[in-house]
Amino acid sequence: MILRPTLVQMRTPAVKQHILICCCCLISWAAVLNEGFAGDENPVHWLSIQSKYTIIMYQTPDDLVRFDRQLKYEPASRGLKSLFSHQRSGSITEKVADKVDALFERVQEILEMRRNMEMPTIFIHPDRDHLHDAYVRLFKHPCKIRAWYHYSTNGVYVNVNDLHEGMLAHELAHAIIDHYLLIRPPAATAEILARYVDSHLKD
Ligand SMILES: [Zn+2]
Repeated sequence: MILRPTLVQMRTPAVKQHILICCCCLISWAAVLNEGFAGDENPVHWLSIQSKYTIIMYQTPDDLVRFDRQLKYEPASRGLKSLFSHQRSGSITEKVADKVDALFERVQEILEMRRNMEMPTIFIHPDRDHLHDAYVRLFKHPCKIRAWYHYSTNGVYVNVNDLHEGMLAHELAHAIIDHYLLIRPPAATAEILARYVDSHLKD
């Protein structure tokens, strides 16, 4: 588990280069990088934490503090082992990593879908406008939703001002559902399962 924040600066030329190479796997990465742009003149600087199950991207330490406050789900609620693990955590990065991992494990538990899989990346946007900009860059049309999971980037996109633990669990459920089976289930089936997860998160 790498808990030291890493500065990731994303610039347009790198994306263009990836796209020109025209390699399938690099196209996927280009989409990830593209997510990080605010425009040629104003590149977005991302910080990242790697938890056990996810990569968490955020733009300022304050965003991470707000993200932590929005998620009212404590690793301690999962039992003594988690409680002691949580008590070791001192920094905000450790606390957030523990909380997201606890949420991820709870989603796996509800779905009974546990296997090693590619880590999803959680993009924590600082406000609605940034989130909507990311949506337009990815999908080329206006955003009408509060959060989403995007299979091609394996990314979860959230607005820290409009977020709760059920929403994040729902989007993580999509990531798990889409990677657990050899063939992705139909979108309607995945949505039913993801809604089941967020409604039973604290059962
Ligand atoms: Zn959904």
